[in-house]
Amino acid sequence: MKTIKKILPSVFILMGPPLSGKGTQSEMLANHFGFIHFSLGDILREKSKNDKIIKKTMEEGKLLPNKIVNQIFAASFPDLEKSRGIVIDGYPRNLNQARFLVDFLAKLKKDFLVIYLEVKEDFLLDRLLKRKYCPVCHEVFKDNETICPVCGVELVKREDDDPKVLENRLKMFNKNTMKAIKFFEKQRKLIKVDGEKTIEEVFKEILGRLDEFSY
Ligand code: AMP
Repeated sequence: MKTIKKILPSVFILMGPPLSGKGTQSEMLANHFGFIHFSLGDILREKSKNDKIIKKTMEEGKLLPNKIVNQIFAASFPDLEKSRGIVIDGYPRNLNQARFLVDFLAKLKKDFLVIYLEVKEDFLLDRLLKRKYCPVCHEVFKDNETICPVCGVELVKREDDDPKVLENRLKMFNKNTMKAIKFFEKQRKLIKVDGEKTIEEVFKEILGRLDEFSY
């Protein structure tokens, strides 16, 4: 029988609930493949400095309107001809954005693959409660550290690490983002990974699953 040679797509989309580790895994994947890490949350955080409505919406853990987000996404999308590939994190967050993205990539003639980090809600809350940061160097710590090993100062909680905000973001995720995830699953464009393991184990599992796509 003839073997069909499959090649990995040059666009990976990381999806999962808040605190599932999308940002960390995106960064690691981008480094591993020499891709660009494109975080829409980071771009919006930058824009929120000069835009009160964006700032307020983000602080409340709500989603920004699709029209604005799709526009910002398209306008900030890197030139793929100048890079090996891209890891997208924080977009799409609902069905409207998922459809916009599919059309957008189809026009660029780029194939994609969605990596969904599955993490249960009680696990996410536990992560949130453990998370602290150093007020001097801003490094985030996830375990039981109380003092920053570099600066020697006491670690503190971040204002946006509020269980109420997490609850809002989880509601949004279940109501909106899960529809986009199911949409990609139906198109057979999605791989599911257990996001409750350690950072290194999750990364290893992602690479293993990607291998299945590139024989
Ligand atoms: P993130 O850093 O990806 O968790 O995003 C932080 C916040 O930015 C979210 O809680 C939303 O308020 C906003 N945001 C990020 N990405 C999107 C998106 N695709 N659609 C709407 N709002 C978004």
